[in-house]
Amino acid sequence: MKTLLLILAFTFSVFGQTAVTAPEPLLLGNPSKAKTDVREPDNYLVTHNGYTLSYNKSRGAANWVAWHLEETDIGDAERTNAFAPDTTLPQDWWILPSAYSGSGYDRGHLCPSKDRSTTEEINRATFLMSNMQPQAPKLNQKTWKYLEDYERELAKDNEEYIYAGCYGDKGKIGGKVTIPTNCWKIIVVLPAGENDLKRVDKTTRIIAVDMPNDETVSQRWRTYLTTVDAIEEKTGYDFLSEVSKKNQKVIESVKDGSTENGESGTAKEPAKASASKGKDKEDKKTDDKTPAKKTKSGDRVYITGSGGGCYYLTESGKKAYVKDKSLCGNAPAAEPAPTAAPAPQAEKSAPKAEEKTQAKPNSDGRTYIKGARGGCYYLTESGKKVYVKDKSLCGEN
Ligand code: MN
Ligand code: MN
Repeated sequence: MKTLLLILAFTFSVFGQTAVTAPEPLLLGNPSKAKTDVREPDNYLVTHNGYTLSYNKSRGAANWVAWHLEETDIGDAERTNAFAPDTTLPQDWWILPSAYSGSGYDRGHLCPSKDRSTTEEINRATFLMSNMQPQAPKLNQKTWKYLEDYERELAKDNEEYIYAGCYGDKGKIGGKVTIPTNCWKIIVVLPAGENDLKRVDKTTRIIAVDMPNDETVSQRWRTYLTTVDAIEEKTGYDFLSEVSKKNQKVIESVKDGSTENGESGTAKEPAKASASKGKDKEDKKTDDKTPAKKTKSGDRVYITGSGGGCYYLTESGKKAYVKDKSLCGNAPAAEPAPTAAPAPQAEKSAPKAEEKTQAKPNSDGRTYIKGARGGCYYLTESGKKVYVKDKSLCGEN
């Protein structure tokens, strides 16, 4: 007993508490029963700092990535943009950061950079190419991102077990990386607490989406809500396999926000209400690149422009400025899906909004960033800032 305590004390002192106490991403199950065995190169388990994945050598990308998200995962560490091959894989499986260049597809994160932003080290880990999928720019920069924003909103009061991946085959980039037809995500939402596996029951909220990987994708992620059962059918995986069969049967068949699931309370959301007017219109309404604060008054969505003005979008998509700036209020909302529970989050949303304007991947594959002193730069693969003269690359008019 004494020896055991000594060993434990030693372990804590060597590895530090975070490494020991971080929740296991696969607590609710390993969807494809992946193992770290090179004889199964298309279902190869990899554990990284902050997330776990099943790698598929034939696709040059992951089958799925799993991670746990809670409020303390989200910090102020800058996005490192440290794209790198996953060198934990056998070398002939590596995908280089340049692999997607010129393909027209973004290097889309599965485990998002911002979900791992407490330290530079942990953020770097999200930039391994095994965490990337070729995503259509609109999917990566809008729909998929808005759901990422929403999962971080939820993390203010909840903890989440998240699985994400892509499936389907629209051809290969450079003969190496499969372009998926669809990308999906499953978010298991639990109120922050202990004994997580035990707490998953018939009422547990699950957000499951399955999105098309092309430019026709609507910006509203809720358009793509589906069930875990449907994703299991498409992918052949078994999610939440550690949860009792009885409970899986219930929670895997419920679509978030549907009447069967009283827990989620998403049915009442304003974003959903306006959707009844038609998907296209809703798209136009939200088709604004400014990192806008939005607020709803009556039927109109008022948006705070980058210059501080307050406007709404007409049906033809034009901005109509209003004098009364109070219509823009000061309650930020995760676009295009406000949180179910309205709460004042003013301080936190401001830096978020900044990130939206400053880090936009350009068509040349580079992400130009506006520096604090007004310069415009991109980061090299080694992480160095390279300033450019053309500030329009940073979105300056
Ligand atoms: Mn992304
Ligand atoms: Mn299942």
